[in-house]
Amino acid sequence: MGLLFLQRLEGEGVFRCRRCRVDSASKDAIISRDFYGRTGRAYLFDHVVNICLGPNEDRHLVTGLHTVNDIYCSCCQQILGWRYEKAYNQSEKYKEGKYILERARMVKDG
Ligand SMILES: [Zn+2]
Repeated sequence: MGLLFLQRLEGEGVFRCRRCRVDSASKDAIISRDFYGRTGRAYLFDHVVNICLGPNEDRHLVTGLHTVNDIYCSCCQQILGWRYEKAYNQSEKYKEGKYILERARMVKDG
């Protein structure tokens, strides 16, 4: 185990892990609020911080087959959402490399 380096986000509208309150994403990085996760509403983010990626998994989602990785808070290991590694439908390609954070797992500042 190495040292855990946590990144801090500046400005208002920072989403934090609900369990440990470590910064996860900024509202400026939101691409869409029209997503649903396992626990209800979820947002699509361009980039997030302080997360660990799980292994690649193929999942059939409402919008078709995707390869995704679950994402975990790098501080408390709570599952936060997932990352789209690959979308098989042309219309879903914009999600590749982007991150879903579930609203129920986050608290928002500001
Ligand atoms: Zn956490």
